Amino acid sequence: MRAAQIEADLSRVLVTEEEIYAKLIELAAQVAADYEGKELLLVGVLKGAVMVMADFARALPRHVETDWMAVSSYGAGTRSSGVVQIRKDLDTDIHGKHVLIVEDIIDSGLTLSWLLENFAIRGAESVEVLALLRKPDAAKVHVECRYVGFDIPNEFVVGYGLDYAEKYRNLRDVAVLAPHVYS
Ligand code: IMP
Ligand code: MG
Repeated sequence: MRAAQIEADLSRVLVTEEEIYAKLIELAAQVAADYEGKELLLVGVLKGAVMVMADFARALPRHVETDWMAVSSYGAGTRSSGVVQIRKDLDTDIHGKHVLIVEDIIDSGLTLSWLLENFAIRGAESVEVLALLRKPDAAKVHVECRYVGFDIPNEFVVGYGLDYAEKYRNLRDVAVLAPHVYS
């Protein structure tokens, strides 16, 4: 669905589907250049990164392997608990591999900093992060993110994989959720 179809639930649209595609093509070209001659494993973080992974991987003009991890730090609320739990681990042994973590959003940064440390312990050759969205004003820990789509204000957003209580993931655009929906 598009934002216009659920207008009453949203305060405003931040990034349109068209802007997202254009940005992912740009990032894909950068990643292809940076990893030339190297094997690359994309690790998507379920469930939020499903859309980014699908479109970013297809925008890449080269071979990649893909794997998924499911972690949770949120529950059904709108704020990070800081507690990261592995719900589904990788199927791949990442020892000696170049890993690019594909994320929907960096909010507090807690999930990613935990993942980066976890991947380093497993002996990855390199670990970098690609995040479609980042909220600079929400950072609780600094996370080195090599590829960022859009910096956005510190507001709760939904769409393009991002949910509120498991809904809105199928919204094509990224939008600020209207406060009346969750308060
Ligand atoms: P963290 O606070 O950086 O650890 O973010 C953890 C996860 O919370 C992200 O990967 C998202 O799945 C989710 N999240 C963070 N901010 C938002 C938001 O504005 N809308 C929906 N999900 C979010
Ligand atoms: Mg996520």
